[in-house]
Order: sequence, then C-alpha cells, then structure tokens
Amino acid sequence: MSAPEKIDVLGVGFDNLDMDEAVERGWALMKKHRAAYVVTPNPEIVMVCREDPEAARAVAGAALTIPDGIGVIYGAKLLRTPLKEKIPGIDFTCRLFERMAGEGKRVFLLGSKPGVAEQAAQRLAAAYPGLVFAGTNDGYFQDDGPVVEKINAAAPDLLLVCLGAPKQEKWMRRNAPRLDVGLMIGAGGSLDVFAGNVERAPERWQKLGLEWLYRLAKEPKRIGRMMKLPQFLLCVMFRK
Ligand code: UDP
Repeated sequence: MSAPEKIDVLGVGFDNLDMDEAVERGWALMKKHRAAYVVTPNPEIVMVCREDPEAARAVAGAALTIPDGIGVIYGAKLLRTPLKEKIPGIDFTCRLFERMAGEGKRVFLLGSKPGVAEQAAQRLAAAYPGLVFAGTNDGYFQDDGPVVEKINAAAPDLLLVCLGAPKQEKWMRRNAPRLDVGLMIGAGGSLDVFAGNVERAPERWQKLGLEWLYRLAKEPKRIGRMMKLPQFLLCVMFRK
C-alpha cells in the first residue's frame, strides 16, 4: 500500500485520514512490528517545529501524523487544503485499545509522574478486558538505555510514550532503531487522563472544537503555551 500524499500545514505533513482510516493504518503498522511511531501535533507543536529542527525531524520521521487539535483543522482549511477531520490522539489510542483487546495484544505505558502509569493501567484494564498490560515506567528517568531494555523485555505490541511534546517525539525517533515494539504513539498527557487525574472536556465542548478552552479554564498556567495558537493562525494567513 503506497502512502497517500500528506497535507502540509506550515511545514508539518499531516495524513489526510478520517478516524477509521487512521485506526486501520495504525493497526497495520502495529502488525508490521517495526517500531514505527505516530505523532499527534497541535498548532503549538507545529510552531515548535518551526524553531526546533530536532523536533521537526522527529515529527517528520513519524509513519502516521494525525491532527490532534481543531486549530490544525482550521489552519488546513484556511490554506485551502482541508483535512478530513480532527483526530484526538487519545481517542485514536482508545480505538486501537479496543482492537488490541480483542486479540489479547500487549501495551506498555511510558511517562508521567511515578505511580500515574500504574494507576492508568489499572483503570484501563477494567475498561478493556483482554488488553494485556506488559509494563509501565514513569517519565522522569535520566538514561534511555535501561528503560529501552525494560520495554524490550516486556515485548509490547504498542508503546504509549507520554513525555510531553516535543520530548516524546525526539525520544521515539532516537530510540526506535533499538526498540522491539510493534508501534509507538506520542500521546502527551493521555496517561494523566487514563489515570483519572485530569478530566477531558465534556463531549459537547469537544464537538464544538472548544476542548482547548476548557483545558485553559482548568489549567490557566497553560496560557503561555497557548499563545502559540494566534501566532499559528497569523502564520497561516500570511502563508495564504
Ligand atoms: N512528562 C514526563 N516527563 C517529562 C516531562 C513531562 O513524563 O520529562 C509528562 C508529564 O508528567 C505529563 C505529560 O508528560 O504527564 C505531558 O503532559 P501535557 O499535558 O503537557 O502534554 P501535551 O500538552 O504535550 O500533550
């Protein structure tokens, strides 16, 4: 299957897929078992990639790039190269979990503060009977080596890498050659949500494309990071 053309949004190439198609691609990549990785950039990460060449290379190295935020969807629309739909990384991950559960596949959870990944595993095990939890590790380690060894010993089909962006993208690119895993997803703060420590916006807010506003109201300290959103829209408008 040849890879369809990507949609360029300020230098980041996005796969133009709907959720079902993205899950299909993710599943196929997992089965190939070549430690390919999925990235889920939002406008903030697109802007980071413009300033940080290592982040840009890491994002470009992904086998699948899905638009996590409504901002990327607006950007692509303004550039007159619309993307099919917003695909939140956490929803994409849950869809893969559903399929994996049916086949008893193995997942390893990497990232977040000590204890969070274990708590997430417990809650996910109840939500997805059949899914096998191969291991966990927090995201505050110094050396990659022992963590890579631990992951390889656990032999997961899926490795969730939740170190925040762009750290997780750089980590996946750097370590992919020595990882014996099916697929990786750079999934940001998903473990905090799975563990029940962070609440997602209610569905109505998500449908209206206002998840970012809900998150800002809950965590006002994110305002600095979110200031990249107007910058992103200005860049898109000038590019147009
Ligand atoms: N994190 C981590 N190691 C680090 C820095 C961050 O494991 O060195 C975790 C952090 O505890 C949090 C996640 O990465 O669980 C980042 O969450 P955030 O909501 O900032 O993610 P993003 O906005 O990048 O999706």
